[in-house]
Amino acid sequence: MMNVIVVGAGIVGSSIAYRVAQGGAKVTVLETSRVGAGTSGVSFAWTNSNNKTPRPYHDLNVAGMRAHAALKDEFGSTPWFHQSGSLEWRVDPAEVAAQAKKVERLREWGYAAEFIDKKRLQELEPELAIDAVSDKAQIAFCPEEGWVDPVHYAGAMLRAARQRYGAALKTGVKVTGIETRNGRVVGARDDTGAVHAADLVINCTGRWSNDTVSETAPNVPLAPTVGFLVFTPPVGVDLRRPFHAPDVDVRPDGAGRLMIRKDSLDDRFAGLESRLPDCEEAKIALASATELLPGLAGVEAEAVRTTVRPIPADGLSTVGPARGVDGYYVVVTHSGVTLSPFLGQAVADEVLRGRERPELAQFRPSRFQA
Ligand SMILES: Cc1cc2nc3c(=O)[nH]c(=O)nc-3n(C[C@H](O)[C@H](O)[C@H](O)COP(=O)(O)OP(=O)(O)OC[C@H]3O[C@@H](n4cnc5c(N)ncnc54)[C@H](O)[C@@H]3O)c2cc1C
Repeated sequence: MMNVIVVGAGIVGSSIAYRVAQGGAKVTVLETSRVGAGTSGVSFAWTNSNNKTPRPYHDLNVAGMRAHAALKDEFGSTPWFHQSGSLEWRVDPAEVAAQAKKVERLREWGYAAEFIDKKRLQELEPELAIDAVSDKAQIAFCPEEGWVDPVHYAGAMLRAARQRYGAALKTGVKVTGIETRNGRVVGARDDTGAVHAADLVINCTGRWSNDTVSETAPNVPLAPTVGFLVFTPPVGVDLRRPFHAPDVDVRPDGAGRLMIRKDSLDDRFAGLESRLPDCEEAKIALASATELLPGLAGVEAEAVRTTVRPIPADGLSTVGPARGVDGYYVVVTHSGVTLSPFLGQAVADEVLRGRERPELAQFRPSRFQA
């Protein structure tokens, strides 16, 4: 039986652990903190291929969206997945033109995307202040998009991996490198010096991927960016799906909470600076959201979070074996929420069955290796 170590219990690691365990390997997940402690715990988590280019990257994201929907057949219920559709409107003429071009391309590529009028927008979102949406707005609706509770999802995958297929999850284990013999992986070393034996180590530590293997395996060059998110307390506002208005994105976040993002605020953060919920940035984000959702009047932020997007240097996913070390495989990607269930299947096919997945051909770590 192949002995596999998955490092990192975020949405990517949990998806891969589940499928690799299902495929018959002995799987151990090593996690330094807790399930969903990393970027997966602080993500807008919109399942989409709304603006993903080039075509292979679009197709990969569509495969992720389909894989999320397909989990329902396997799990019976998937309470972490909300295939609600999503809305986007643009008013600035240059943005309107770009959106028109994008929607045309998406439709050519067979993606469900349509323009709707303000009347339909109001039907879809009855609590939206429709007069606050400009009459010049061009409104797109993508009915197959949605959003995920990433930590809930990761927990469910790991529970299924353990209960159905005997996988193990070890938290409080910080991996500091891979252990090799004659160029082959024999295990993962942790910060106490202990070596966890393995035939294959799959590094799923996202933004920490290079720290995790330090000097012992090839690095994936990263170009991370910081994201800032604002969370309301439970509110009596019936928002049914994510919307992307000019410089403000809002989505439901469960139990009546809303999550708010404002692109222009991300520039205020040079790194992982912490803020308090009553910070100026939270007030600005809430004010933008309240213009469109008047039911938010008087609501203050319950929490704010800054986090880092795990983005490979060219913006595209990195999935595959690293050249030069047999038995070491790395997965680091933005859009990880969308992609995860598909990556789980595809990585299991590659590492267990030796079937190279053509969908991953453009995304190999070797593109960064001389
Ligand atoms: C603001 C923001 C908005 C986003 N919006 C979207 C979106 O709308 N749609 C979408 O699809 N994606 C989105 N993303 C991206 C998505 O959230 C990430 O791609 C995804 O969460 C990455 O998951 P991961 O499992 O690779 O990494 P993580 O969730 O970071 O998991 C890595 C895990 O590894 C553990 N770890 C780290 N180092 C070690 C070590 N040495 N040893 C053991 N364990 C270790 C960490 O504790 C963590 O649990 C967004 C990201 C951000 C920041």
